Amino acid sequence: MGEKTQAARKLYTAHPRLWRDFRYVYPVVSRRSRGLSIGINLNPDKVCSFDCVYCQVDRTTMPGPMPVDFERLSCELRTLLTQRDAIFADEPWKDVPPALRRLRDIAFSGDGEPTASPAFPAAAGLAAELREELALHDAKIVVLTNGLNLRRPSVIQTLAFLDGHNGEVWIKLDAGTQAYFEQVNRVHVKLDQIVDSIRVTARVRPVVLQSMFMCLHGQPPPGTEIDAYLGRLRSIVDGGGAVKLVQAYTVARQTAEPYVSALSRDQLESIAARIRALGIAAEAFV
Ligand code: SF4
Repeated sequence: MGEKTQAARKLYTAHPRLWRDFRYVYPVVSRRSRGLSIGINLNPDKVCSFDCVYCQVDRTTMPGPMPVDFERLSCELRTLLTQRDAIFADEPWKDVPPALRRLRDIAFSGDGEPTASPAFPAAAGLAAELREELALHDAKIVVLTNGLNLRRPSVIQTLAFLDGHNGEVWIKLDAGTQAYFEQVNRVHVKLDQIVDSIRVTARVRPVVLQSMFMCLHGQPPPGTEIDAYLGRLRSIVDGGGAVKLVQAYTVARQTAEPYVSALSRDQLESIAARIRALGIAAEAFV
């Protein structure tokens, strides 16, 4: 691996949630955003409704206090959005090429499920307000979600509000069968219910699906699982849901369980090709 490639990989794989002394807002140079993403972490307590085997949240450090201190969040978001050029004075940001310094999005991501936070609606309002005030018209407001709360009235309303502010919803879908869903995402809800919620959400606006493919104990997902996964995608689209893009990716950092490892580029590309064969745009991120 060349020095430049190594530096880029270091940037893409380093996703610390802490920047200077900030608690809620952090910068990321994101492959998927193709530039600077300003993340909002509404879950400093690191609690999530899923328990994914590949989770890359660092739970070796102390959780932060809850509830969210809205005034502090507001101050951090304004500071990072207005002074974002200062980010590139620090290591490892100094080496970020100019093309990747452009602000692409404000993203509700972080150490848990953002839509589960009582602060989510107000924080979405804050992000929209600052995006307008600072004339960040090219920036999206992205909500990364595991999909569990998509039918909650407050979440439906907040996503509808964000639709008017260049919002985009990125929803996790890692499995095709109930058994694999429970094995990988370790949550006892019906996958049917999650897929229904995705379909309903995608009827309102095009959504991005984020699908993690990995080896478990050295084994890639069985062919029958990939077939079932593709069947789920087809059912979303056939049911009137618009899927803008599937981001097929694999593990790049330390995972919750040691038996999880990355797929090869070829393996991931071949899954992405099968998604495209359904007429759905897909990108592989290795
Ligand atoms: S949904 Fe995200 S934060 Fe929650 S356990 Fe899975 S990977 Fe981790």
